[in-house]
Amino acid sequence: VDPLVCFAVKANSNLSILRLVTDQGAGLDIVSGGELLRAERLQISGEKIVFSGVGKTAGEMRQALRYRGTGIFSFNVESLSELELLNQVAKQLGVRATVALRFNPDVDAHTHPYVSTGLRENKFGIPYSEVLAAVRGVAAGKYRHLRLQGISLHIGSQLTSLSPLASAFGHLDQLVRVIEGYLPGQIQFVDVGGGLGIAYRDKDEGRTPTIERYCRLLVRHFGPASSLCKDLGRSLRIVLEPGRLIAGNAGVLVTQVLYVKDRVLKGAQRRFLVVDAGMNDLIRPSLYESYHELLPLIQAKTHKKQRVDVVGPVCETGDWFARGRLMPASIQKGDSLALLSAGAYGFSMSSNYNTRPRPAEVLVDKGAVRCVRPREKVEELLAAEEVGV
Ligand SMILES: *Cc1c(COP(=O)(O)O)cnc(C)c1O
Repeated sequence: VDPLVCFAVKANSNLSILRLVTDQGAGLDIVSGGELLRAERLQISGEKIVFSGVGKTAGEMRQALRYRGTGIFSFNVESLSELELLNQVAKQLGVRATVALRFNPDVDAHTHPYVSTGLRENKFGIPYSEVLAAVRGVAAGKYRHLRLQGISLHIGSQLTSLSPLASAFGHLDQLVRVIEGYLPGQIQFVDVGGGLGIAYRDKDEGRTPTIERYCRLLVRHFGPASSLCKDLGRSLRIVLEPGRLIAGNAGVLVTQVLYVKDRVLKGAQRRFLVVDAGMNDLIRPSLYESYHELLPLIQAKTHKKQRVDVVGPVCETGDWFARGRLMPASIQKGDSLALLSAGAYGFSMSSNYNTRPRPAEVLVDKGAVRCVRPREKVEELLAAEEVGV
């Protein structure tokens, strides 16, 4: 088995992080021309890049087809119209694009609806009947500038059980067998996406699927000794696109308490800790009501606890990090808190809402501490804007 592991750049796209994962041999899963420029900056071989996403533009296709003179490993195509356009763009450039069709297996990933991608009603991927229509088109010689070599899927993110993946892999296995009837010998790889969940809560530690179990499932379905590979009479390359699993629990967001606000609501004491980080820095709680552990950087001397709401300074009621959380009652103005599990979909989803410059990114690597992106300055945010007309 010679798998290709492509780190999902959108999970954490800082160049120093991409350098670390690619130095370990990983490739990159990109979803935009901007992310491809990051790969280029790091001189990542095109042989290790897959391009996902439902809305690739012709310009992004050209950029990827020309990447370092040789193009990329695979365009994971998400619709028949994208297939048409990619064929045209490749024709104009006089090249052939390697393609995987992203199959939507219509399975419920049992995750938050905003990160569920493998149901028929989601915008992602191509349903079974359309995949077969595309395959028939390829067999009829309709896409002369494409080379269909793979099938991909990605059914969602933060999956806490392997069973939706097992079911999706079963559908993928069947699909590859059917395609083999139309295009014998042509499918070379299966790209199984990412999606493995991590423990955001201390109490979930050890309850998320292990990498070992996941790999065993993969090898059972698509490994050289799988019944699929035996029936095809060849091995398939396995491509993986993990994001959150790699970066999620490797990062924290450090923030400071600006104010403590006490209020009595329906006879009950209610405390707000207003911190200097906001939803623009880490949007996951606001967007998915997701849970992040919160730790005071300096441990309290007393054990007295109090329920608090930890909120940011942004002018939105949805700007919160924790609600009704038990925290040491001694926390006061000026104290620093760490929001854990902020390494994936944290900074990479951040914005400048409320004209807030984003925080510095600091890499801690085996005790060495290095700033890998300085704190933004408000002047930088304003620099490109024109005053008046
Ligand atoms: C976001 C994404 C991933 C990474 O998902 P994780 O849940 O972070 O592992 C992989 N593949 C595709 C196509 C994606 O959109």
